[in-house]
Amino acid sequence: MTRQHGTLPSGLIFFNILNSKEDGNKRKRNCFNLRVFFRRNAFVVLTLTAVIVGVSLGFWLRTFDMGAQEILYVSFPGEVLMRVLQQMVLPLVLSSLIAGMSSLEKKVYSKIGLRALVYYVVTTVTAAFTGIALAAIIQPGKLSKKSEMSTTQNSDAQTVDSFLDLLRNMFPSNLVEACFQKYKTEYVSNENKVVLNMTEGRMINETIAVPGSSDGLNVLGLLVFCTAFGLVLGGMGSKGQPLRDFFTCLNLAIMKLINIVIWYSPVGILFLLAGQILKIDNLAHISRGVAMYTVSVIVGLFIHSFVTLPLIYFIIIRKNPFRFMIGLIQALTTAFGTSSSSATLPVTFYCMEDNHKMDKQVTRFMLPVGATMNMDGAALYEAVAALFIAQVNNIDFSIGQIIILSFIVTAASTGAAGIPQAGMVSMLIVLTSVGLPAEGISLLMLVDWLLDRLRTATNVLGDCIGVGVVQHLSRHELQTPAE
Ligand code: ASP
Repeated sequence: MTRQHGTLPSGLIFFNILNSKEDGNKRKRNCFNLRVFFRRNAFVVLTLTAVIVGVSLGFWLRTFDMGAQEILYVSFPGEVLMRVLQQMVLPLVLSSLIAGMSSLEKKVYSKIGLRALVYYVVTTVTAAFTGIALAAIIQPGKLSKKSEMSTTQNSDAQTVDSFLDLLRNMFPSNLVEACFQKYKTEYVSNENKVVLNMTEGRMINETIAVPGSSDGLNVLGLLVFCTAFGLVLGGMGSKGQPLRDFFTCLNLAIMKLINIVIWYSPVGILFLLAGQILKIDNLAHISRGVAMYTVSVIVGLFIHSFVTLPLIYFIIIRKNPFRFMIGLIQALTTAFGTSSSSATLPVTFYCMEDNHKMDKQVTRFMLPVGATMNMDGAALYEAVAALFIAQVNNIDFSIGQIIILSFIVTAASTGAAGIPQAGMVSMLIVLTSVGLPAEGISLLMLVDWLLDRLRTATNVLGDCIGVGVVQHLSRHELQTPAE
């Protein structure tokens, strides 16, 4: 973990100082040399400053009573950041997965894959139980009146369709289409088939499910295809070498591009946050119940991020997890600013490969998969939200139901895409699956702008700690470093 100071593209607060091979005296001098410190850690300092300035700017601009159009203009530099980051996701996922999977030995990838899977399941279930425990202790739903809830409709059939859509998206029928569209079941009223309900004496228009689509990258489909393609390519020996070289080169070029565009992220984050603060409705309208629900989720995310995950890291690696987390500040702030694990992926790669010098054989596989499927924050939030709605409706859960809830929440969070407010959508699946009324979603939306940002940061942290843990456990197998 050595760096030439003169060539540092960015820095990590304290991290570079702590990890440099300088002698003790020089280290002490550096700690107090603010100029050196700022030069080395410019990027982190800029990102953190952007968060503070963005939030302050947002609150200051609120005093001017701005209209929707003006708010749009304020958010514009942030919108550009989102577009640039999202632009990187497709080539990054393609090249990192194919290059990563094709360069691994069969024995190694099965071990890394298994360890990653165990880590994902253990941490997500733990997050779900943390949420369940907090909702049971704080009981936020007992403070909320049922009348606050508004109704949304969701049937069992729609829940099944959502699961089937997930499977359909894993196997897109057209790879080009998967680059910009996802499959989504839509519901239309069947005008040719009007059912006459004799008992009630009225006509009912039957709703039928039809194939539809929604805009956005089908990351899940590309993930499955690229993993399979990379594995086959890896097994082709010398014949597959030209294509392996191509994807490795593409991956290196994309990472170089990310190293450049990443410098724009502090500007984008600043305006994203300012725009978000401007959009918030009057906070005084939030009821006590919703406020306690918000507190429960935040406390849960805090426990998972600062106790559970660091403990797992420490138990397995025996190193200071907080020092590791300092190296992730850019990724965590970007996750907070963008509310999207997918859009944060380029920055996550940057932190793990440039700051932490993690093995590319692990990052190339685990980061794209983690950004799509490993969502500790979403699982925790969904568990608290489900119990909150149960409490509001005076529905008591037995131990058996709670265990079922934890598994459903784990599955639903895995299915949530790494995009803003995806957890809110999979929340509907959770509610119908455990037999809770799909009410109150609109109430939860009041505070989702904040919870989404926080749970996205937890999702990204879970992915990064996972890479550290799996790399450590696989260190004997990972002898030859990837290019
Ligand atoms: N926004 C989250 C993410 O991108 C997903 C969620 O809504 O929970 O990780």
